[in-house]
Amino acid sequence: MDKAFLWHPFTQMKDYNNSDPLIIERGEGVKLYDVQGRGYYDGFSSVWLNVHGHNVPELNEAIVAQLGRVAHSTLLGMANVPAVELAAKLAAIAPEGLNKVFYSDSGATGVEIALKMAFQYWHNRGQIGKRSFITMNEAYHGDTIGAVSVGAIPLYHEVFRPLLFPSHTVPYPFPYRHPGGAEGAVETTLSELRKLLEAKAGEIAALIVEPIVQGASGIVVMPEGCLREIAALCRQYDVLLIADEVATGFGRTGRMFACNHEDVSPDLMVVGKGLTGGYLPVAATLATDEIYDAFYADYEERKTFFHGHSYTGNPLGCAVALASLKLMEERRLVESVEAKAALVARKLAPLADWPHVGDIRQKGLIVGIELVRNKATKEPYDWAERIGVRASQRARELGMLTRPLGNVCVFIPPLASTETELDEMTDILAQAIRDVTEGGWDG
Ligand SMILES: *Cc1c(COP(=O)(O)O)cnc(C)c1O
Repeated sequence: MDKAFLWHPFTQMKDYNNSDPLIIERGEGVKLYDVQGRGYYDGFSSVWLNVHGHNVPELNEAIVAQLGRVAHSTLLGMANVPAVELAAKLAAIAPEGLNKVFYSDSGATGVEIALKMAFQYWHNRGQIGKRSFITMNEAYHGDTIGAVSVGAIPLYHEVFRPLLFPSHTVPYPFPYRHPGGAEGAVETTLSELRKLLEAKAGEIAALIVEPIVQGASGIVVMPEGCLREIAALCRQYDVLLIADEVATGFGRTGRMFACNHEDVSPDLMVVGKGLTGGYLPVAATLATDEIYDAFYADYEERKTFFHGHSYTGNPLGCAVALASLKLMEERRLVESVEAKAALVARKLAPLADWPHVGDIRQKGLIVGIELVRNKATKEPYDWAERIGVRASQRARELGMLTRPLGNVCVFIPPLASTETELDEMTDILAQAIRDVTEGGWDG
């Protein structure tokens, strides 16, 4: 029935239909179990969402309790209890100044909202020339047309180019593939950004960035200090800063938000993925009072933000998000990430000497291992070899699920994983990499 009726996202169905499908029946802790009863570690947090593991009693109960009150009511012109409480909580934990919360239901819609808010902010203030955006090379902000317009991954985005609005791009600092290393990469990014702002700031509404870690491009970690400089340049040239924390938010990088690493307070911040602990589809776009105030006017002025979704502020989703944040605090989960990340780093360090491991990139519990054909020249594996896919297939055989980004193996375990679980998961990851790059495993 799966092969007959389902069309899977980001999946070539011809490959899928020739494969042995994995159909999940239940989850428990950091493991998922398929319909045959086989258990697998969730080594990618079900595509970067999961925080506390699966089937968590406290989170289940939060949903059930809310279900006994109301499953859904709208936020258009009215409110519901969990949506109000969660908004206050998000404002309290977000970087300084982000006091207003606008809900949606996915990272992509959260990004759309940030882009439209930035655009209309300048419009409402009478600066209608400021209408374009700066993004960064290889950026990923979701799959709707606006989000793809500020996306810059050619494989995903090129076919849609005729439908998109044009954006400016500056390089995301990528030390491994920059001839000048970390220092050179940061310098290139900042000088190109400065040049662009110098010439075009009057036409630019906002810059959008994946702070500290650029995820979908292959887990690229920004050198220290770069985000702070990007934020300062935006401020200096009067361009809004949109932080896309959809992947990095809620402790993933070792701080509540990646922006916290460099004390950056963006004008708009998008969160999603881990917000509900990976349970239900809720996202949010947080805005400063200054942005909110530009929309606050007499009705006749038509400064209203005309945007919303059917399930905006869904009470079940907001209730489980509140429960997830409460558990994070009670279990000091964000504080625990540093020690867990150190264990993972220690376990993976020996791989750096392996002949086909080009680069190991990590920030907190988000890890990318770039495999290369030739370590000395950094020559990539040909994409047709699907080395990353094969490593993931081997990891699945060994009992862990993950999904690669091209030639980069990804390891993003639930934050609640114990040290023993992380130990076993990293063993599987390492063995899978060794088997496909050196061991002749070819599935
Ligand atoms: C996953 C992701 C998105 C899109 O989120 P969806 O919920 O899949 O729409 C946007 N930005 C970043 C940085 C992401 O990692």
